[in-house]
Parts: sequence; structure tokens; C-alpha cells
Amino acid sequence: MKIAEIYFSIQGEGSLIGVPSVFVRTSGCNLRCSWCDTPYTSWQPEGDELSLEEILEQVGAHPARHVVVTGGEPMIAPDIVALTEQLRARSLHITIETAGTVFVPVACDLMSISPKLSNSTPEGRLALQHERLRFQPDILCRLMAAYPYQLKFVVVDSKDLDEIEPMLKRIQADRSRVILMPEGVESEELRERGIWLAEIAKSHGFRFSPRLHVDLWGNRRGV
Ligand code: SF4
Repeated sequence: MKIAEIYFSIQGEGSLIGVPSVFVRTSGCNLRCSWCDTPYTSWQPEGDELSLEEILEQVGAHPARHVVVTGGEPMIAPDIVALTEQLRARSLHITIETAGTVFVPVACDLMSISPKLSNSTPEGRLALQHERLRFQPDILCRLMAAYPYQLKFVVVDSKDLDEIEPMLKRIQADRSRVILMPEGVESEELRERGIWLAEIAKSHGFRFSPRLHVDLWGNRRGV
């Protein structure tokens, strides 16, 4: 599997925020978000071909009980099912961070789904493909039925809520599992967006998530 990076940090987003975790970042994505914060896994995918054994060895080198399989889009990575089964055999808690456009029968304890809104659509020749793929209601329903889940929306503008609410209705999502997170890779920009987004989360009955790793370490790889 092409792996962009494996590192030990804390979960910076969502319901497991603050939990020490090993991150396994697969390289390759079927979407092309304009604001992608890991372009080295999507627009210009980088990484090394690692065997399952090599990945498991690197994960096992850290004293963590939680593993986050992220990307890119980990659900399109070859051997993702075998990798997650092997992680489960080691009694690790597995979070998968996905955009929710693909279903494969992985082993997973928390499906962290981040459906992409139209604020993610890039300009240029990839716009149509991205727009066609980014919201897959049937896949989302399958993922939500099969796994404990959270729905994490990356919000740029308050108007994004006009898109989120119909999406949630369409997939009949549990609103208590919805998390709003500001888009951004700089602390100050996240703080400014976070102030109004927290108010929106309160009024809609959603959770709010910061991007704790960005606040602590900035926009760096491997943290
Ligand atoms: S789905 Fe994630 S990895 Fe893929 S382009 Fe969008 S933000 Fe980047």
C-alpha cells in the first residue's frame, strides 16, 4: 500500500479529540478538494509502498491503543480490509477517516465520515468529477448502518448549513453525531471561523470541533 506517513500524535478533531493515536496515512484520493490540507495524498500523491507487515511493525513501535487510518481516502487503498483486520487482531481501537464515497467491509470502531460540501469543489477540469462523486447518500447510509460513526463537516461559510441540513435529512442522520469544524490551516483563521461556527453549532444542536493539532503545532506534517 502506498503510505504517505505513519506517526504518533494526538487526535486533533472530533469525538476522540486528545486521544493519543498512531496515524496511518494512505496516499491517493478519489476527490480533489480545493482546500485539501493533505495535497501530498490527493493532488500530488507521495509515499512509499509498504507491506502490511511493515505498516504493522511501525504502528506497533508506539505505545498507543488507538489507530487512525486516514488519507487521502483510505477506503480506496488496496489491502485496507486486511490492514484493519490485522489491527483489530492486535486489539487496537480503529478510527477510519473517510469522505464516505466508497464502502468496503473494513474492521472499524469509529467511522469518521466527512462528506464534502460544494465549498470543496475545485475550479478547472476536475470540478465535474469531484462534484459527481463527493456526495453519495447510499454509501453514507451503508457506512452509518454498519459502524459507529460521526459526521464531520468542514465549514467555510455560514451558508454551508443550508447544504448540510438537507443532506442530513436525506440520509436520516443522528444529529447528535454531527460535528462542525472550521476550515483552515492557520490558528488565527480557525479561531475567527470557530467563533461564529460555535454559535451555529449551539443553535442547530450539533457539536463543534476545533483542529487541536493545528492550534498546538501549526500546519505541519507528522503531528
Ligand atoms: S477527501 Fe480529503 S484527502 Fe481527498 S482531496 Fe478532499 S480533503 Fe483531500
